[in-house]
Amino acid sequence: MERLEAMQRFLRMKVTRQLDTDTVYMMKAPRCGIPDVAEFSTSSGRPKWQTNSITYRIVNYTPDLPIRVVDDLIQKAFSVWSQVTPLRFTKVNKGEADILIQFSAGAHGDRRPFDGTGGEFAHAYAPGDGIGGDAHFDEDERWTNSQADINLFLVAAHEFGHSLGLYHSKDPQSLMFPTYRYVNTDNYRLPQDDVNEIQSLYGRRR
Ligand SMILES: [Zn+2]
Ligand SMILES: [Zn+2]
Repeated sequence: MERLEAMQRFLRMKVTRQLDTDTVYMMKAPRCGIPDVAEFSTSSGRPKWQTNSITYRIVNYTPDLPIRVVDDLIQKAFSVWSQVTPLRFTKVNKGEADILIQFSAGAHGDRRPFDGTGGEFAHAYAPGDGIGGDAHFDEDERWTNSQADINLFLVAAHEFGHSLGLYHSKDPQSLMFPTYRYVNTDNYRLPQDDVNEIQSLYGRRR
């Protein structure tokens, strides 16, 4: 039950070490698949891209939204980060890219199979070669451009935070908080906690 305690501590819940109602609720809440604790060691330093010019490719599209809308939402999700840093994101349509984006259900070729509808909705890998930086979205969720189901822009912006080297935040208002919470996405402004974190890695926009 050490993981349970760690999760309760991370999410600033009452540490009961028990599967009480609140804990079960949080465990069932839609969330990012990247663990809040463990796996990340600080001794290896924080991985980051060594260039400010980053490429991405959308490997496949969800059938839940028109292609044009997915393209727009993904671009908007990257712009959340480029607005406050010197980073620039360029979409490529074939071949290699730093960040590969894919929609998959169940097992999809890495060690983190998705779990069907609900629960984990996405995960992404920290900067690096190969799978590093890549972002995977669970096709068993229904992806939207609204407050219904799971809003693709909000989740993509969160996952790209991982793609750039951010971990989860303990601040429930932050974009990098591990559980899903809908907020109005019109004129979205990145919360200050996330601005501070990304600028500590890449600096301010010049
Ligand atoms: Zn996450
Ligand atoms: Zn995956």
